[in-house]
Amino acid sequence: RFSTSVAIEEPITPPVQIDHTQLLINGQFVDAASGKTFPTLDPRTGEVIAHVSEGDTEDVNRAVSAARKAFDEGPWPKMTPYERSRILFRFADLLEKHNDEVAALETWDNGKPYEQAANVEIPMVTRLFRYYAGWADKIHGLTVPADGPYHVQTLHEPIGVAGQIVPWNFPLLMYAWKVGPALACGNTIVLKTAEQTPLSAMYVSKLFLEAGLPPGVLNLISGFGPTAGAAICSHMDVDKLAFTGSTNTGKIVLELASKSNLKPVTLELGGKSPIIVCEDADIDLAVENAHSALFFNQGQCCCAGSRTFVHERVYDEFVEKAKARALKRVVGDPFKKGVEQGPQIDGVQFKKILSYIRSGIESGATLESGGDSVGSKGYYIQPTVFSNVQDDMLIAKDEIFGPVQSILKFQTLDEVIRRANASRYGLAAGVFTKNINTANTLTRALKAGTIWINCYIVFDAAIPFGGYKMSGHGREKGIYSLSNYLQVKAVVTPLENPAW
Ligand code: NAD
Repeated sequence: RFSTSVAIEEPITPPVQIDHTQLLINGQFVDAASGKTFPTLDPRTGEVIAHVSEGDTEDVNRAVSAARKAFDEGPWPKMTPYERSRILFRFADLLEKHNDEVAALETWDNGKPYEQAANVEIPMVTRLFRYYAGWADKIHGLTVPADGPYHVQTLHEPIGVAGQIVPWNFPLLMYAWKVGPALACGNTIVLKTAEQTPLSAMYVSKLFLEAGLPPGVLNLISGFGPTAGAAICSHMDVDKLAFTGSTNTGKIVLELASKSNLKPVTLELGGKSPIIVCEDADIDLAVENAHSALFFNQGQCCCAGSRTFVHERVYDEFVEKAKARALKRVVGDPFKKGVEQGPQIDGVQFKKILSYIRSGIESGATLESGGDSVGSKGYYIQPTVFSNVQDDMLIAKDEIFGPVQSILKFQTLDEVIRRANASRYGLAAGVFTKNINTANTLTRALKAGTIWINCYIVFDAAIPFGGYKMSGHGREKGIYSLSNYLQVKAVVTPLENPAW
């Protein structure tokens, strides 16, 4: 058994109160029509934090009607873009003011380190809303030089009611990636949070009302996937869907959309992203980046660098240093200062990750560190490093979504390109080299939506994100996200006097 740097004692009392546990429909916080609730759990202990409303089909119907009315009758899509922009900026200011409470809710519900939530994630959410607030009054069509005596223009119009379904790994960041561009373009929304992490979205949706968002523009449903989630996907009055989560659920979402009204769908799904460490790489930089690429957020990132390919000449040095770094990683109560890794989200994920670790050991990979759970309460897992991983092992093929780093050896660039691309996923990739030609070759050869060169997990509101292959459809963030929420209308008018 390897020892882990542990900081687990009695759970620290979170510095926040739970004030919001209901659905938001048409500008009101309301109980579910059925009156049902479900518990949201503290991943540090498995104990109940609060009971929240359990939305189902009837609540989704009410929310979609409210969103439909707010879209068709206004004022939101008909407001001047500047007014919409000001509401989004006001919301961002309120969020900034309440940053620490929201971060505490995020940590409590999800288990991520409070320092990460308070100093990185929630500020990123605020930044993202300001980015899209800035776009709201800069969205417009084109004039088109067509053949013939016609004046041709395009109007960029909001699509209508957007259905949005988010996962539990970055609850508020995923909310922001979806709500920000949809509102900037003038759409109305029905959003379902993940059943594991409903709290932060409930809190900030109240701030939206305070910022002056009209009733019905943003409706929030907490509930389960096969009930509330499926009802959103199948609804005939939802005009567009955006989903982040597992590839399997993505397939269901697409099917429900096609079986109902063929609403367009953007999907941000799983990954098995390669990191390629070349023989000329700065090894210390590569070790540190590959470590955080995998272990960040307890390994629960869709773009986690979960296949680390290392050139044979630097392989032994890399493995030694990667192991040393993992052994130093501080695991513990996420509210405690200096903790780098909290618990996994829930018992289901916890068991699934431990079974992947067993499969790695049984299939003959070398366990360099970790390999077990930590403590007797909650869902803590040791930072685990495997070397001598082979491409056909389950741990090299499946998305583990936990703190398990797999290190593989390669010899040539052509070989590693082929192996890195031999995955059903294509979300991201990392390249560590000092040679610009190697970097350029890999950048073009790798089939992934993001390539990080000599860095990893660099995020920004303006940088688009999304996947090739079964990692999804479409791009979120940046200018690219706007097209997900806009219709393009071509308008053709004859010119009376073509001479002019
Ligand atoms: P999931 O895909 O089932 O859940 C994501 C969201 O989809 C949740 O809001 C859920 O309620 C909803 N959902 C579930 N079933 C649905 C349905 N039939 N119709 C509509 N919505 C539905 O993911 P999970 O079960 O929480 O996690 C399983 C695995 O998914 C993880 O181990 C991980 O590999 C992957 N995952 C990926 C991401 C990502 O960011 N790409 C996020 C979370 C989980």
